[in-house]
Amino acid sequence: MFDTLSDRLAATFKNLRSRGRLSEADIDATAREIRIALLEADVALPVVRAFIKQVKTRALGAEVSQALNPAQQVIKIVNEELVGILGGETRRLRYAKQPPTVIMLAGLQGAGKTTLAGKLGRWLRNQGHAPLLVACDLQRPNAVNQLSVVAERAGVAVYAPQPGNGVGDPVQVAKDSIEYARTKQFDVVVVDTAGRLGIDAELMQQAADIRDAVSPDEILFVVDAMIGQDAVTTAQAFLDGVGFDGVVLTKLDGDARGGAALSVAQVTGRQVMFASNGEKLDDFDAFHPDRMASRILGMGDVLSLIEKAEATFSQAEAQKMADKLARGPKEFTLDDFLSQMEQVRKMGSISKLLGMLPGMGHIKEQINSLDDRDVDRVAAIIKSMTPAEREDPKIINGSRRARIARGSGVEVSAVNNLVERFFEARKMMSRMAQGGGVPGMPGIPG
Ligand code: GDP
Repeated sequence: MFDTLSDRLAATFKNLRSRGRLSEADIDATAREIRIALLEADVALPVVRAFIKQVKTRALGAEVSQALNPAQQVIKIVNEELVGILGGETRRLRYAKQPPTVIMLAGLQGAGKTTLAGKLGRWLRNQGHAPLLVACDLQRPNAVNQLSVVAERAGVAVYAPQPGNGVGDPVQVAKDSIEYARTKQFDVVVVDTAGRLGIDAELMQQAADIRDAVSPDEILFVVDAMIGQDAVTTAQAFLDGVGFDGVVLTKLDGDARGGAALSVAQVTGRQVMFASNGEKLDDFDAFHPDRMASRILGMGDVLSLIEKAEATFSQAEAQKMADKLARGPKEFTLDDFLSQMEQVRKMGSISKLLGMLPGMGHIKEQINSLDDRDVDRVAAIIKSMTPAEREDPKIINGSRRARIARGSGVEVSAVNNLVERFFEARKMMSRMAQGGGVPGMPGIPG
């Protein structure tokens, strides 16, 4: 699912990664490509417009992260905006304080409601609930039967008028089922309602009557992700006609574009709560906007890297370092050198991830070659120096070097080596300060 969108976005970001710094023109070009990617994926036009506007504003704006290069920042913004249009936070089912909780399913015929009732029943059962599936689709000849079959497979109870008894009153069935659930200790009732092939007034009225009879805690609108832009129109019609609290996307396995599904949450202002991706009972799960966004971007791993890098390099530290460098390399002291080494050591655990970013391979090698003892030794040497010496190691003469070596339990050569490495690093820092360098990734000693 969402394969086309993923592929296109990946190509866009690949172009970006080779840039050091993004100009306004770069951002415009990227925004255009993302726009095409979204439109091709069948995302509704107003949703695309709002999305692009937001990404552009944020990319051009003052959001400067010291831990990320410009391309990574754009990816991060796109990811966050995607999570936004997918509904933001994961929303969980609301259970009634007084059981039974009533969940009503609404949607067009063929959307996958009956199948979903079974999936939801199984899912609820696995969560420790005692669900009761209620067949209120008395229109379709085989619907009651189908629900009974699904319920049996899911291992959950079903409340259904005996098939063959003729067309009953779905509102009465719904009402009775709640009473039945109460006496038989079922704590969640899932009401499957009738659908039509298209939206019609009678269908809406019946759904509204059932709604009024059972006062559901949750009305879930079930929509087939394969119906394209119609998903948005249908969602709007159900929102106006019956109202709903959450969305369930079905048949995500069959749709390579999926953009319409992306639009439903945004257009209706209702969260996607569950997603179905197959005909089997287990092809179903709660919907997490953040995970879906990473999947669409095809870069779950890069996103965790971005998070870790941000957590490791505190913005304030990085800013302090950048300010210092701006004042000239002389401002870079041995204390800074040490704090840098410690930051790099903190990143050791993510060196694996770093290797996945193009252009970061060499940094990964440096991180791997920096072992803990090395950092401890350097820390001991630096701590044996006076504050003045740390500020300006040039003043450390031969006898002071011998004294520092004794104080920190190392050979004089180790002190010499450190001082040399420091001057090397300072030179590198000044080159980076002039050339732009990777923000937040100042020269790694080693
Ligand atoms: P209802 O009319 O809304 O109750 O829809 P059904 O539950 O009868 O589903 C209609 C058809 O879609 C059936 O053939 C289901 O097997 C199929 N279906 C339901 N959910 C999914 C899904 O997530 N993926 C796929 N591939 N098929 C599904």
